[in-house]
Amino acid sequence: MTMTGRCLCGAVSYEIEGDMQMCGVCHCKNCQRQAGSSYSVLFAVADDQIKISGDLTVYEDRSESGNIVHRHFCGTCGSPVKTSLPTQPGMTYIKAGTLDDTSALEPQVHFWTDSKQNWVTVDENITQIRGNPA
Ligand SMILES: [Zn+2]
Ligand SMILES: [Zn+2]
Repeated sequence: MTMTGRCLCGAVSYEIEGDMQMCGVCHCKNCQRQAGSSYSVLFAVADDQIKISGDLTVYEDRSESGNIVHRHFCGTCGSPVKTSLPTQPGMTYIKAGTLDDTSALEPQVHFWTDSKQNWVTVDENITQIRGNPA
């Protein structure tokens, strides 16, 4: 299976071979700020599954637990495209809203639900982690 996606303006696009390895929803405050929204939906792939075309700008962020988080976004339109963590070399987390076809998304876990916005309801059958997924 090949998955494709891109940022809003199309300056950055990607192709992923194979399946996503994890799909989750992050309710941390930093994801809310970066997305300008209520949470971010991410999925994990190995670095060697993904080919990215175009230039991403990197913002070095820190999670609430102090870990460095590299947030990569399109410098032209601002779409968040991927996140990588120095503590998890070889893995890339893709912002799922950039996928062309989102029908395969099925989040198995919600992270940082302590900072979840009040209006958001999470399915009780899905794993919820109050803080850091690690
Ligand atoms: Zn763009
Ligand atoms: Zn987050």
